[in-house]
Amino acid sequence: MNFNTDTDASTDTDASTGPDASTNPNASDASTDPGASIDPDAYTDADTDPDALTDTGTGTDSLDSDCSIEITAFAHDLAYDDAILHEEPILPSEHCDSDVSESESDASGDSPGIHLPDYDSNLDINAGFFETPEVLDNLRDQLLGGYKPPDECPPDIKTGMDIDKLSLDEKISLEHFIAWKKSNGTVKAYDMHAKVLATHTNATILTLYQARKLAIKLTGFHATKADMCPKSCIAYTGKYEHLDKCPYKTSAGPICDTPRYHKSPNGIKKPIAQVQILPIMDTVRALYANAETSSEMRNRDSCLKQVLHLVATAANNPHMINEIASDPNAETVSQPAPVRQYSDYGDGQIHQMQYEHLGLFKDPRDVAFALSTDGAQLTMKKQSNTWLLIFIILNLSANIRYGEQVAVNLATPGPFSPGDIESFLWITFVDMAKASEGLWMYDAVDSSYFLNRAVISLALGDMLGSAKINGMAGHMAIFGDRYSMVQAARSSLVKGSKALYYPSNPPQNSTYNPNRSKYDLNNLPLRTQSQYWKIIQKLEDAQTKKEKTNIVKATGISRLPLCAVSKAFIHPSYFPIDPFHLFYENEALFIWDLWTTISDTNDIVHFRHAAKFGALIPEAMKTLPPAFCGPVRDPYLKRQCKYKIYEWMALIHWYIIPIGVELGMHPAVLKNFSQFVEIIEFAMTNAKRTDADLCYLQELIIKFLLGFEKLYVGEDPEKINRMRLCIFQLIHVPNHIRWNGSIRLGSQATVERSIGEMGRKIRSKKAPFANLANLIYEKELIKILCLYYPTLDINRKQKSDSETVLKPIQQHKIYKKYNPMTPVIEKELASISVLLKQAIISGGNVQYSRWGKLKLLNGHVLSSRSTQAKNKAQRQSFWFEVCLTCTILFE
Ligand SMILES: [Zn+2]
Repeated sequence: MNFNTDTDASTDTDASTGPDASTNPNASDASTDPGASIDPDAYTDADTDPDALTDTGTGTDSLDSDCSIEITAFAHDLAYDDAILHEEPILPSEHCDSDVSESESDASGDSPGIHLPDYDSNLDINAGFFETPEVLDNLRDQLLGGYKPPDECPPDIKTGMDIDKLSLDEKISLEHFIAWKKSNGTVKAYDMHAKVLATHTNATILTLYQARKLAIKLTGFHATKADMCPKSCIAYTGKYEHLDKCPYKTSAGPICDTPRYHKSPNGIKKPIAQVQILPIMDTVRALYANAETSSEMRNRDSCLKQVLHLVATAANNPHMINEIASDPNAETVSQPAPVRQYSDYGDGQIHQMQYEHLGLFKDPRDVAFALSTDGAQLTMKKQSNTWLLIFIILNLSANIRYGEQVAVNLATPGPFSPGDIESFLWITFVDMAKASEGLWMYDAVDSSYFLNRAVISLALGDMLGSAKINGMAGHMAIFGDRYSMVQAARSSLVKGSKALYYPSNPPQNSTYNPNRSKYDLNNLPLRTQSQYWKIIQKLEDAQTKKEKTNIVKATGISRLPLCAVSKAFIHPSYFPIDPFHLFYENEALFIWDLWTTISDTNDIVHFRHAAKFGALIPEAMKTLPPAFCGPVRDPYLKRQCKYKIYEWMALIHWYIIPIGVELGMHPAVLKNFSQFVEIIEFAMTNAKRTDADLCYLQELIIKFLLGFEKLYVGEDPEKINRMRLCIFQLIHVPNHIRWNGSIRLGSQATVERSIGEMGRKIRSKKAPFANLANLIYEKELIKILCLYYPTLDINRKQKSDSETVLKPIQQHKIYKKYNPMTPVIEKELASISVLLKQAIISGGNVQYSRWGKLKLLNGHVLSSRSTQAKNKAQRQSFWFEVCLTCTILFE
């Protein structure tokens, strides 16, 4: 399995699974390599940022030249795992959700007095679907502020048609400005190239300031700034809007009380800190004003139409699908019956439900967003945390939505992570409340004005990110599972021990967890929308803190999240699983620990040769083509040293099973683990899945979970602490695929890549956050400008001319001493032929050349280790072979 050259969605997933450029030993080599500007390993967005590592000039701010700012994302994930390991709550103490879930721990897990509000599994789960609680309706009204879309289109809607009003000088200047920005140039570069241009064209090139001002005027793109606490607790929005001092209180510490304003000697109040928020709907407006992207934005609707057609056809012929399901070879079926398949948001159940039951997407151009948030650290002299919020436009097909089309909405300036993150999201949600009622836009396809409606359909985040926006009590709660009402179990009789685990059939249950029901993995009590609204209403009605705490304890729901105001909100699917973190950083890591540190040598699951296994990994890497992934380290020695997601991927998908067999791992353990691998490969592949496929997956998962419990828990009730929530949550994977297609939709990779991309462009040591805000704004400004005025983008013109063929770069000579390799290569090609189900070689005569690099059709570049490592060839793989006569299809 090749992680880098996979199908379309690899543009989404590569970045996070590839080595972090800041720690990639090859990255610095690559930046000095003339061909490296399109090297996907070194840069995740190399097309717009070829010189990030070598360019030491200044940007538009007054910047330092020699600073090296490293951006490190997701240290908190490891913190999460370690905390789980030590059974300590890790959510930041100021987090309002966690203090409730922590305080319940004194209930010692047997949960006295737990009762669900009106929960009855026989009840029609959709009965109260639309009975939204009053508190929600009020919040929606507050955000909307009385906005109604005007009946007639306002006169000042941007169309991009006023390009003819520009003078030639202005056009040339803007082209220059765009090219400069896209190449991440310095101020000096702008001026010098402008002089060259002016000398030879006699044009008057606008100054950088003038060009930027013209771009802003043409696009109407303005950022909003909101005051915030300089300690990052809150933004002064919503309920904080009129305050002068920060009211934020951590659960342990005192009230922050930091003032909002400086007072200058002449009495003028100036905010001490501000956060920049970009208007996401300006980007959507520009996308519709561009004929090409306007038609691409209709992809969501064409997927929906296909689903509706399929469902209608099946409804008219009720036997069709049944026959197929019962006997695929049934003679009565004369032609292949249409079968529903799930591959993406577009053909998933949630989209269909939003259309059919929530009344959304009545116009083909209505917009669905996925919001994604994550934290990162800018590492300089002292650490500074930032949180990024991005919008993914689900209207676009999966192969284009994750690249340039991702819109960064805001990045909180440090130094700390935001306390009340929803106060930072408030302005965006005000914009979105209006957008969901309707905004006028120009459609370049129909050449007409129309009322567009847009909603946030999903909110993505890893465990910690999601906890900040989903209003749930979190994984430390007794009902810590976001998707079901399965109660956690405890693994100890010691007073005060917490209920944190999710076994299906635990030994000595009546002693350890007398009040816990038995659960059927095939029929779990899933959370429902109507039940959810009732709980929110109960929380609102609670008179005392204790009463509220009891509701949180009994439900795992702690408050109404801001996200619930979205018209597309459906509980519990609104906050999907992040597959990369769940599968690799949580599950893989935990299983490895079970084999090594958590078990002792008497334990059947203990891996006695783990050290030997670890030592074999760097050896095994030597034969791996470098474009596949970065260096995978010895997990036995390096597991504690920020062992990365892609390293876990390599272990799971390539190394553990074959090497485990060789080293004599217990066959039962390996067999069970191989089921785990199959589940993940099934889930992570971007294939279209039918209900029959998903039933198979469900059976496999249940088989794995029951087998896992038998092996790892056995008859020891204290070992049910091996049935962690992350393992249990595999059970929800089939539902996730039904809801939104490929589970990769929930991936955090996109926001992680945005963080990495932005982080590498930061040049200012003195003011990194101001620099970051500026980078985010200008990137979006240029994008919007190019959408309205595509002719100004010199890059685009070249792109349309280029042919879509595979072009190898950097040919290498084949030395005589490598001739003995030929039979090996023949064998390799033969197996690839089998895999691709097509003959690669005709005539049996292998004609091959050796290349340093190959540009793929998706814009990525495969490069060989020898190219990356220059003369310091550390690996044995010096080349790869390309056979240009065959067509390798990248979906
Ligand atoms: Zn504060």
